[in-house]
Amino acid sequence: MAEGSEGTGSEMGFEEEGGRDRNVWNVMRSRKRKKKEKAVPNIDETDSEQSVTIANKQQEEEYKVIMKLSQEGSSFGEWNPIQLTKSINKLLGEVKNAKVLRSGALLIFCRNKTQQEKAIELNRMDGKRIKCILTGNKALIRGVITGIPINVAEDQIRDNVTGAKVLEIKRLRTTRNGEKCNSLSVMIKFDEEKLPSKIYIGYMSYEVRPYIPPPLRCYKCQRYGHVAAVCKGKQRCGRCSGEHEYGECGEGVKLKCCNCGGEHSSAYRGCEASKRAMEVQRVRSLQGITYAEAVKKVSKEKEAYKPDLKENKSVSCGKCETIEAKEDLLVMGKNEFVLFMVEVINCSAQTDRKTEKIKIIVKSAEKYLGIKGLSCEVVEEMIVAGSTSSQTWVGGSL
Ligand SMILES: [Zn+2]
Ligand SMILES: [Zn+2]
Ligand SMILES: [Zn+2]
Ligand SMILES: [Zn+2]
Repeated sequence: MAEGSEGTGSEMGFEEEGGRDRNVWNVMRSRKRKKKEKAVPNIDETDSEQSVTIANKQQEEEYKVIMKLSQEGSSFGEWNPIQLTKSINKLLGEVKNAKVLRSGALLIFCRNKTQQEKAIELNRMDGKRIKCILTGNKALIRGVITGIPINVAEDQIRDNVTGAKVLEIKRLRTTRNGEKCNSLSVMIKFDEEKLPSKIYIGYMSYEVRPYIPPPLRCYKCQRYGHVAAVCKGKQRCGRCSGEHEYGECGEGVKLKCCNCGGEHSSAYRGCEASKRAMEVQRVRSLQGITYAEAVKKVSKEKEAYKPDLKENKSVSCGKCETIEAKEDLLVMGKNEFVLFMVEVINCSAQTDRKTEKIKIIVKSAEKYLGIKGLSCEVVEEMIVAGSTSSQTWVGGSL
């Protein structure tokens, strides 16, 4: 696996229930069951989030577990499906269904509670270390609280939270000066119907914000939305887009992004494709929709924002979902650019309000750079979509 030094680390993120999966197989279904299922939407064709909705509509309880391989970067997608099916049957008996998720983990639909409980106890399969976690009918409710000193352990937090039922606590990591380190924020998985607005730890109350997982980026083909372990694309270099492993570019090769063709590494967070992938995650988390739906929605919105694109090209790796990348080029004179900067810096220093600062940016962009049709809402969206944990909007409140 070619891993760029500037990798986002999202490949190892908390992502477990990805969008539409291609590695789907059924395990020994009887003809009778198959017939019955024709009447209802085929659960296998949807992703786990959609099957949640279907299950709820039918008022039927599902017994699902997610099986993860302990070794980082490994995927059930690399296993022989026949052998994998045999191994599942050997350990649990025949299950309803199983599929490999985008993250490389295995989603198993157990027949009943006993089988589900049996799965939770497992720690090995075919000699490989594994771990099973419960995943219920409820949608995944995840939030973030901040201001938790780094010496407070996850277990300690979990045992002391009141005001909501907590399933899991995870300390979030951030990048500071190029190094990964613990942040003051923790992610909480709730056993609740909807996200609580606040929780308590002892006497102290904490505001809960929705958790937006970082986008997945594949270290093999460099595209967003899946990980290398389940990649069906070609090996691409994150530096130059060449068909070789990371960094084996030869001399004098320029940086070229696989996703937008721009002169930067494929991991660059300022890349349009990266911003779009983050926006997809945001839309997906906040609206509780699937990955595929969120991709569609974001593509439509982007179209609406940018009526006069100078160049418009679509990048697809063929087998994966098409992620459209747009090159939004701006030609300007040096003087105009400097004047734009001068006006934005001077004027925005005179106000503390975020909305006022955005208005100044919009006005100056039109005046000096000739960017028309930019609205304050759009700029605000860009700030949200482009911001990361280590880089946030500075100065002023709304
Ligand atoms: Zn890939
Ligand atoms: Zn791909
Ligand atoms: Zn290269
Ligand atoms: Zn790019």
